[in-house]
Amino acid sequence: MNKHAQNQSVQNTTPKDQSARQILELRLSPKGIKPVRNGHPWVFRNALGTAPRAAGLPGAVIEMVHAPPLVWHHTRPALACDPSGRPLGWGIYNGSSRLALRMITRNPEIPIRGETFFQLLRDAVDRRENLRRDHSEGAFRLVFGEADGFPGLVADLLGRTLVLEISSAFAWDNRQWIQEELVRLTDPLRVYLAPDREMLRREGVTAPLQGQWSNPQEEGGDARGIVEENGLSWYALPGTGQKTGFYCDQRENRRWVAGQARGLRVLDAFCYHGGFGLTALAGGAASVVCADSSASALQLVEANRDLQQAPAERLHTVRGDLFELLRNNALPQGLESFDLVVLDPPKLVPARQHRDAGLRAYKDLNLVALQGMRKGGLLVTFSCSGAISRDDFRTALAWAAADAGKTVRIEGQFTQGPDHPVPLHFPEAEYLKGFALRVD
Ligand code: SAH
Repeated sequence: MNKHAQNQSVQNTTPKDQSARQILELRLSPKGIKPVRNGHPWVFRNALGTAPRAAGLPGAVIEMVHAPPLVWHHTRPALACDPSGRPLGWGIYNGSSRLALRMITRNPEIPIRGETFFQLLRDAVDRRENLRRDHSEGAFRLVFGEADGFPGLVADLLGRTLVLEISSAFAWDNRQWIQEELVRLTDPLRVYLAPDREMLRREGVTAPLQGQWSNPQEEGGDARGIVEENGLSWYALPGTGQKTGFYCDQRENRRWVAGQARGLRVLDAFCYHGGFGLTALAGGAASVVCADSSASALQLVEANRDLQQAPAERLHTVRGDLFELLRNNALPQGLESFDLVVLDPPKLVPARQHRDAGLRAYKDLNLVALQGMRKGGLLVTFSCSGAISRDDFRTALAWAAADAGKTVRIEGQFTQGPDHPVPLHFPEAEYLKGFALRVD
């Protein structure tokens, strides 16, 4: 059976086989048009004006869009149009997802095809070339999903380990050639492919529980890769650690904190592997407390401390629920005993509809920190929730300062590193926001 016939037979969500290889025409509602024209990659189901129908396109175009290696298993190629039928561009349609259409190109003249995606991958890797130069052991995000034009595909290069995190049905169906092409472009020793099961479930895909290792160049999987960041060595643990195995989005911010830390007593709250705390210690902090609810995260802090040969007597770990511990000012060392506090909690706002509750959660967390901190202390506080904006977060911090009765000045503002670019018309990509607040 040739590839085309295979594609046809797997289109089991389509009632008539005859229509499986057709391309859909989607008419957007009037309010759906402007974001797409500006380059926003997402169209939700409620922004589609009418039901999708078969687009009347020449057979040659249909052949081109269906040519291998593209696999249209859970998704269909679609031509997005305005309400009068004028084409706006090409996207990927998923009838099972609330996020029904993911735009790929705003040029309706050139249909999407395999080469479109290969070019996206090449461009994404090329854009990071200067950043990666002279850092062969560094940790970098090579592909940042929609922000690089490739829906639902995150690729991190952690030293010589390539980690793919897949959250869209299209990227899942096409994972084989995506992996092959990224291996060709980056020459890793090993690859870890991680399905984002929850996101894929919302896309109508049942993904395996476990990620999968493969080793293009070496025998046997090695989950304990070591990466270099800010001149220090760190364990990167795809598969057993959190997310892709290393948070490569705080590189520049950890460096900034370390630059402030000389002689200071530092609290790294929500520390994971100790990224802020250990970088601060190397920057000359007098003492560091790393706190997290996860025992394995704190083991990783200690493993990194040993790897870096950092002075054990100046580093302490605390395990517990930090929302509780901070609210009751119940850390073994009181909040007032720290000169510099980093708060980097997990995502508190899962989606836009939880925005208000999420803002209150950020406010409450920062309120207790500001209440407990000494005059002159520095609070470096982050939000990694894409569903709230920088202004939202800043507003929550202003509420916290007002309730704490403290005068607070912004001394630094932070975002994710340059390997996590933010398209101007896709503000959701700017998920990481941070402020350094001097407390008076
Ligand atoms: N600061 C880290 C990343 C933090 S990720 C870095 O620089 O890489 C968020 C961390 O918060 C995770 O390690 C998670 O285990 C921890 N966490 C989640 N809920 C928590 C809670 N209620 N109390 C303490 N830690 C928590």
